[in-house]
Amino acid sequence: MNLDKYLLFTPGPVNVAENLRIAISKEDICHRETDFDTLLGSIEEKLLSLFQIERRNRYRAVVITGSGTAANEAMLSSVVGKGHILILSNGEFGERLHKISQMHNRQTHLIEVPWGQPFNLQMIEAFLSTHKVAVIAMVHHETSSGMLNPLNQIGALAKAHGALFVVDGVSSVGAEHVDMEGCNIAFCSSSTSKAIGSYPGLSFVIGRKTQFEKLKHHQAKTTYLNLATFYAFLTSHSQTPNTPAVPLFFALEQALTNILAEGVAIRLAKIRSRAQELRLGMRKLNLEFLIDEKDMCSVLTTVRVPASVDVADLRRRLRESAIIIYEGKGCFKGKVFQVGNIGEISDLDIQFFLQTLRKVLLASQMNRAALVVPIRKNKLALKVIAHHNQNLQPVVS
Ligand SMILES: *Cc1c(COP(=O)(O)O)cnc(C)c1O
Repeated sequence: MNLDKYLLFTPGPVNVAENLRIAISKEDICHRETDFDTLLGSIEEKLLSLFQIERRNRYRAVVITGSGTAANEAMLSSVVGKGHILILSNGEFGERLHKISQMHNRQTHLIEVPWGQPFNLQMIEAFLSTHKVAVIAMVHHETSSGMLNPLNQIGALAKAHGALFVVDGVSSVGAEHVDMEGCNIAFCSSSTSKAIGSYPGLSFVIGRKTQFEKLKHHQAKTTYLNLATFYAFLTSHSQTPNTPAVPLFFALEQALTNILAEGVAIRLAKIRSRAQELRLGMRKLNLEFLIDEKDMCSVLTTVRVPASVDVADLRRRLRESAIIIYEGKGCFKGKVFQVGNIGEISDLDIQFFLQTLRKVLLASQMNRAALVVPIRKNKLALKVIAHHNQNLQPVVS
């Protein structure tokens, strides 16, 4: 492990590959010259390859300067028109989709279940049978809990009820297969700084050509994030409507080149096996997870904070060893922490993380025990510590 840098065990930002650092500082080019047209064309080709789309001439991708939220806002403000949109939410990012949609679409409906719970398909079906909905929007990987939502089932419901299916794939694309064709997805958003492994600052929307072409018939609800405008510039000039963050485009192209050189299937399998390695190691430390492993995305693991541990203290101690993890948000605040496994993380880094976590858990438990037991009962305090320690097994034998 290398202590000169932070190890980002987060679901983004991520540690980037060394060749991205070189790519981002390439030559200066003008975004109204063919140099940029070529760069954007190459990125689009590679995005279509990343999605493993068979009939790729039916799909296009626009790249937006702005983080994942920009792509989500572009989709939600551009695809609905005057119709009704149904948002499905089971976590923080579903709630954000709902908020964004309410800004742009008067006819926004919400079906929500508690954070970390799977959707009830009958409930959704019942709603669709009684309401004419033009668009259904859902988060693929609900990052706040780590739950992977069922694209195929919701996609089938959307198809059966004649609704467009749009997906927030910000934290899953690059780690999980998003089957645009098989799951009947009209548009999918994502960002560059999560499983794709590049710098933050760019996002994109990939979608069916026929649907992109229909967007111009809707009245524009935003200027900067209007997908119809992005599509018009893409198809007429292979450019973006406004000044793009060109260095980030160079980095994105390199990140996609890296993924395709490795092979998409191999890449996805590698991320999954890293997640499994981390989960095995954390289970050996007697840690419990928020949701069932079969429902988890391979990007991160959401871990329940043990009763004897203060999560702020845990994060501080890990940070002292250059390890960064996430804290739970909203109703999960103080109750969970999240460990990501995307970006440039080696097996050695994972072993280092698990060993450090073990030490840190021991230390923070001792700390808690010392705090709750008065000093004159020191012997008892030591017993409490010994008791806690029994629960912790070594990571590597
Ligand atoms: C991170 C994330 C976003 C927001 O992306 P930003 O890049 O922070 O704007 C949206 N949706 C999901 C599912 C995410 O994980």
